Amino acid sequence: MDKVTKEKLIKSAMKAIHYAYHPVSKKGVGAALLTQKGNIYQGANVQSVISGLGSCAEICSIYNAVAHGEYCFEAIAVAFPSAKGARPCGACQQMLFEFSEVGQKDIKIICVNEKGKIVEETSIKKLMPKGYGPKESGRDVSGYRK
Ligand SMILES: [Zn+2]
Repeated sequence: MDKVTKEKLIKSAMKAIHYAYHPVSKKGVGAALLTQKGNIYQGANVQSVISGLGSCAEICSIYNAVAHGEYCFEAIAVAFPSAKGARPCGACQQMLFEFSEVGQKDIKIICVNEKGKIVEETSIKKLMPKGYGPKESGRDVSGYRK
């Protein structure tokens, strides 16, 4: 990924923070997912006053891409509302792992803090080297590669 695209992805994740629905935590998280076709889909955390409902920003960005017919991803930037930042939770890592098998490509993960500073650059295969996905479960996802 070139520098311009990386900066665009980070800016997009930072912007998505402001779209979050967070009546419980009052903390927005933004994500921006770059597809293998070069499109960017934003996501923001969506909470609920009912415990257990809601979605992380990363998963929201995946849903956004899927709703536009894209399933093959290149990278994701995630903007966390703290100085030290964070990394995607286990559920989000699982979803990213699954789509890395759909797209047959490792997905880069760029974590930034509240100021947009990169705090970690990694990938889903580094975070989940032995994840469980469509391949391991015997599911054919080749029809989603378009
Ligand atoms: Zn998550």
